[in-house]
Amino acid sequence: MSKSKPCAVTAFTSRLCEAGGEVLAPTNPYEIARFRTRYGVGVIYRGKRGETWNAEALSAREHLEAQKGSLAPVAVKGRRKDRATVEALITRDGSNCFFCGSALEGDVTVEHLVAVAHGGPNHISNLLLAHAQCNQAAGHLSGAEKVAMALRLRSTGGAL
Ligand SMILES: [Zn+2]
Repeated sequence: MSKSKPCAVTAFTSRLCEAGGEVLAPTNPYEIARFRTRYGVGVIYRGKRGETWNAEALSAREHLEAQKGSLAPVAVKGRRKDRATVEALITRDGSNCFFCGSALEGDVTVEHLVAVAHGGPNHISNLLLAHAQCNQAAGHLSGAEKVAMALRLRSTGGAL
């Protein structure tokens, strides 16, 4: 057997690897294979009744069988996370811009109240939704100045 492909655990993961998937180390003895693709982390388990494939693994297999091209885990992961953050913020704050108070309508950016550069955490408690333009205008302000800017914009009908 050739050792040139360290990720070639089985014929399947070998093909997965060629399509841009990332083979990961199994986390327990029941795992035959664990890998990351654009569908998320796929796992194939060995159990009493044979092999079990999780949904992510099945999606990756379908993708390979349909020869749909690259399986690489690209930016999909980040975008999914961003979407989840935006949805959580809309649930908490509604779908208006923090600064000007008008509807976001698809022009949505996630802003830190206290900038990361000022020691602000990446936690949702420090995040808010804003228009790209409002976000940019608030860029270098402190948390207190951002709140003041929001109050000013809202009282003047949202004009920057
Ligand atoms: Zn705005």
